[in-house]
Amino acid sequence: MECPYCKKEMREGFIPADRYRVRWIAGSPKGYWGSLDDREEVWLSEYPMLRVQGAEAFYCSGCKTVVVPVKEFRDNFDKLGDKVDEIGKKLTGAFEDFTAAKEKRGARREEEKQEKELEKQRENIKKGKDPWEL
Ligand SMILES: [Zn+2]
Repeated sequence: MECPYCKKEMREGFIPADRYRVRWIAGSPKGYWGSLDDREEVWLSEYPMLRVQGAEAFYCSGCKTVVVPVKEFRDNFDKLGDKVDEIGKKLTGAFEDFTAAKEKRGARREEEKQEKELEKQRENIKKGKDPWEL
């Protein structure tokens, strides 16, 4: 990237978000002891979850300036929500497969039971007994 001030080529790098998202906040930190949450802010990095995130930044050694392009970030919690939905769908699919397999197994057992009863009746008929005697 070319420096917008001195036109020198800038070095590519990043500002790390080790614990918190990198953000630009309106105004000055001087004399401000309260929460910054009510201030106008612009997110410059994603929220670091399990790994370091960072704001893409360009440094000009000529005029000691850092330029940070603002990107649109999807909230990490939205991404987490998508992941949970995905896992939920997989679990629902697995549960439906399990239920179908269980019903199939139940139907097969019922067929086997009826087949055994029929066999018993046939044997009883052969032996001259009451076919309904089990
Ligand atoms: Zn410059």
